Amino acid sequence: MTGSKKKYKLLLINPANQRRKGLVLARDRIFPPMAFGIIAALTPDNWEVEILDESFAPFEYKEADLVGFTSLTTTVNRCYQIAGEYRKNRIPTVIGGIHVSMLPEEASRYVDSVVIGEAEGIWPKLIDDFEKNRLQQYYHAKLPSLVDNPSQKTNLYNPGYNFSSMQTTRGCPMKCEFCSVHTFNGSKYRLRPIEQSVRDFINSEKDRVFVVDDNFVGYNKASRNHAKEFLKGILKSGVKKDWFGASSMNIAEDEEILEYMARSGCKMVYLGIESERIDQLEQMKKKTNLKIGVDKYAEVYDKIHKYGISIMGSFIYGLGNDTPQTIYERTSYIIDADIDMMQSTMLTPLPGTVLFKEFEEAGRLLHTNFPEDWERYGYIEVVIKPKLMSPQEFHDAVYESWERMYDLKALKKKFLRTLQTTKDPTAAVWGITTNLQMRNMVFEGTKESLEPEEAFPDLLKGIQLR
Ligand code: SF4
Repeated sequence: MTGSKKKYKLLLINPANQRRKGLVLARDRIFPPMAFGIIAALTPDNWEVEILDESFAPFEYKEADLVGFTSLTTTVNRCYQIAGEYRKNRIPTVIGGIHVSMLPEEASRYVDSVVIGEAEGIWPKLIDDFEKNRLQQYYHAKLPSLVDNPSQKTNLYNPGYNFSSMQTTRGCPMKCEFCSVHTFNGSKYRLRPIEQSVRDFINSEKDRVFVVDDNFVGYNKASRNHAKEFLKGILKSGVKKDWFGASSMNIAEDEEILEYMARSGCKMVYLGIESERIDQLEQMKKKTNLKIGVDKYAEVYDKIHKYGISIMGSFIYGLGNDTPQTIYERTSYIIDADIDMMQSTMLTPLPGTVLFKEFEEAGRLLHTNFPEDWERYGYIEVVIKPKLMSPQEFHDAVYESWERMYDLKALKKKFLRTLQTTKDPTAAVWGITTNLQMRNMVFEGTKESLEPEEAFPDLLKGIQLR
């Protein structure tokens, strides 16, 4: 005999940084909070699930039986604030995500239950515990195999997002000092079954997809084959969507992958370039880039462009031996190199990284009134005391660099160059749009925010996109 189960409501809240949007929240309106789609898929049918998304509207109190948050460092303080509203009313709260996985004790001061690690392995138990009125303070999730990884429940996302998101792999065997991916997702590169990934791509609600892997092609033959099989699956399906993903610079070692990427609709690849200097790559233990060699970076860019794919180059300002002069030199490199979308942000030690430990122990963190000060840790505010310059000199050098990098005439030039190197109008439009969005973010509050049509009224007229 099956009795009808008691009904519950789960409210999942995606918070926004209240200080400024910052880089991390460039995601707002770009792609949805994937963790929530997965949580919703793992929640049993006797639960109603709703996502309240501050990317679109400020939080307004809503009734629920259980309230869940996902945390990034820049948004965790907002999670704690909202959790406080529910705890006043004795509504249980739960939080997961990368920040609280690194600092669970901090989180447990503000939220009833903390999920440490990836949620898949532990969420069903947490729900069962809740229903039995025995919710625990901590849930330690083991790294799940991705074999039974559920597809997200995408119908709960705000329809205003521009991209759908999906994943084909998790984890990273590299140990770059500024990164906490290997601590959170593990150093084993885990592969999702091809059929599931292809199905998610095909079924994604938008016709633009972000493949959220840290390195789409991985670091060995097996992972490269996995990527190729995924791309072949897309091609075989006949489904046409534009997509982008992230990779290490080793992506250019296998042109067959680039070819499949291009044929399957890839318009942009995000590369962690970090610095054009060998000594700095050594300092941060960026092994893949060292292996490729800075003198070969240009070949990497050329190969990617050859297949009509644009490059979002990510760099860091404020590395160990940076001075205002080396920051200006990095800026010139970024502007002159064949990089289409330019992202160069301030060194920001995040909890769980070697870098954070080093800066904390040396007393070189500028803002330590946590959790409030986590809102500053969004890559566009000085949070460190650099070795070879004052925080003010660092700030001024970076802002001067951004003025040059995101100058509208410079962006127009980049656009024309992308059009020339990729011969793909969509890639070029994505390029100029992303650069403008970067400009709007770094100058938030000091310069007028511009839409592409306002900034470049003539340039984008008549461009035919697929
Ligand atoms: S920065 Fe990229 S390559 Fe380095 S550890 Fe993080 S995910 Fe891996």
